[in-house]
Amino acid sequence: MTADKDIKIAWFNFLKAFTRGLAQINLYKPDHAQITQVLKEAHALLGPIIADSPDNKFTLALDNNNLIVNGFPLLTASKLPASLKNMFAHARTSSISFLPGVSQNDILLLCQMQALDGDSRGYLKQNNIDKITLGRSIFVMADKPDALTGRVQAPEDAGAGECNGATAEKTAETIAPQNFETAIDTIVGKTTRDSAEQKRILEIVMKKFQAELDAQINKALLVVRQEKKKMESDIARTEAVISNIAEGVVVVDKDGKILMMNPQAEVISGKCLSDLSGQKIFDIANLENQLVSLAWEIRSGVDKKDGSSGDGRLKPGFSEAIKKSTAIIQDEDGKIVGSLSIPTDKTKFLEIEKLQQDFMANMTHELRSPLTSIKAALELLAKGIKSDDPGKSMINTAIRNSERLNAIITDILDFSKLQSGKMVFHPENAPSDEIAREAADSMKAWSASKSLALTVNIEPGVPHVYADKRRAVQILINIISNAIKFTPKGGAIELSADKGRGDQSGFVFFSVKDNGCGIKKEDQSKIFEKFVQASAGEKTAGTGLGLTITKAMVVMQGGRITVESDQGRGSTFRVALPVYNGQLETPVFEPLPIVNKKTSWWEKLLGI
Ligand code: ADP
Repeated sequence: MTADKDIKIAWFNFLKAFTRGLAQINLYKPDHAQITQVLKEAHALLGPIIADSPDNKFTLALDNNNLIVNGFPLLTASKLPASLKNMFAHARTSSISFLPGVSQNDILLLCQMQALDGDSRGYLKQNNIDKITLGRSIFVMADKPDALTGRVQAPEDAGAGECNGATAEKTAETIAPQNFETAIDTIVGKTTRDSAEQKRILEIVMKKFQAELDAQINKALLVVRQEKKKMESDIARTEAVISNIAEGVVVVDKDGKILMMNPQAEVISGKCLSDLSGQKIFDIANLENQLVSLAWEIRSGVDKKDGSSGDGRLKPGFSEAIKKSTAIIQDEDGKIVGSLSIPTDKTKFLEIEKLQQDFMANMTHELRSPLTSIKAALELLAKGIKSDDPGKSMINTAIRNSERLNAIITDILDFSKLQSGKMVFHPENAPSDEIAREAADSMKAWSASKSLALTVNIEPGVPHVYADKRRAVQILINIISNAIKFTPKGGAIELSADKGRGDQSGFVFFSVKDNGCGIKKEDQSKIFEKFVQASAGEKTAGTGLGLTITKAMVVMQGGRITVESDQGRGSTFRVALPVYNGQLETPVFEPLPIVNKKTSWWEKLLGI
């Protein structure tokens, strides 16, 4: 586009008069002659200019501080008078249009508007100026000569010159230290000066931001929610399992504080979880029998230096049962953080134990009575049968079998008594020679039936022992009967009684020596365990309890039993019992050297 030269001159002349007016209004009163003169001049020029303008509208606009007149770039930023630039800035607009009919007073009021810092449209309205309008700018690209026809609408109220690179950089610097909301405010403030519009934009931006944020959070939370759901169902399942276990379940932390109990455990303790939660199990009387050992177990796992015995009042088997029913809970580093125990109700435990003992006593009694009658009947029968009668040997076998059965019942009964701690000893001043002879006498008939020579060799003046005489005889009978069982026909068994020598002088030693099958080296330490039958000898009837009971009876009377054996050449069992000394003091054995000891015989005896 090319602007007519005369028109351009008219524009320049108008701008000259108008900018003079803008400058002088700051120096003179509005009715000053100077002011009136320039405004008159400007007004006179404006009339024909408007008439020549497209759409009868003469428009001045600022684009990047370049003055665009009627869409034509007229002045570059460097040549733009400061007064004109200021007017645009104060009016907060990027374009001013003059319409036909604009008066000189309108131009005066426009010049005065530069003193205003606020609502310029309201100012025009207040002063009834409708021939001057602010607002929509009409821009053309400087390099597009025909831009007059291709008008571009700029955003309403876009701040003149605020979109260039330097200002954007400044914006970045401004918002960098600001928090999110203030930064958004600043950015929105740059887009428009209209506060209502600012508010609307801010709302839209915040809504969008919130929606985006919600979507991102939901996405991130999805995995967490799934994980949480899984954990919740795991907990519910575990709780359901624990609650439905028939036994009492108590979960404690590493300090023994109760975390959880199932209803059965509440019954045992007599209190509900809400009362006991957080309390230490050591402090709860009703739980002591079930849980003290558990707590002690945990405590000793956490702090081995704590020397408290904890379960001193509990039976060994019982505390062991609790320990076995306790699962220690460890963290990833293997540190004990708690435990889960399924303690047996002690009352229930004792009830079962009593039932067991009663059953054993009743059963052995019930078995023994008919057996005694059978044996008596057999003996009567045997008396009436002549020795050359072929039936005689059958009856004798039946008698021997009934005796063996009786011995087995005695073993079971004794073992049951030992287990329940009910085997009672009545130690007395017992002559050692009498003990030996009584045992040998009762075994004579049997050894003779096997053609075994059973000899008794008692050291003259052997001291008395401090022992339950009946049990001491029983000890020797058990050992001699084994010797008879494991020595082939024609063999020899020697029972001797001697006083100990040197540091063993506090004991009398009863030895049973046979020349039977002997016991393998590796079996010698095992034969005192319950139900163990070594395989070296011929297979014989028995329970494997005889030596277990024998050893228990010896040890419980302060004695000791040992075995020496050569496989195929015979065995010697030696029982030491304390010498009777008025029993002011009981001699104590030096402990035997421990060979491959893992569990003590006593623990094995009681099955723990
Ligand atoms: P049992 O009732 O089977 O005889 P014991 O406890 O009395 O049980 O004996 C355990 C095992 O020790 C026997 O089965 C046997 O193998 C071995 N034993 C005991 N005494 C002798 C012995 N004098 N000679 C050879 N083996 C023996």
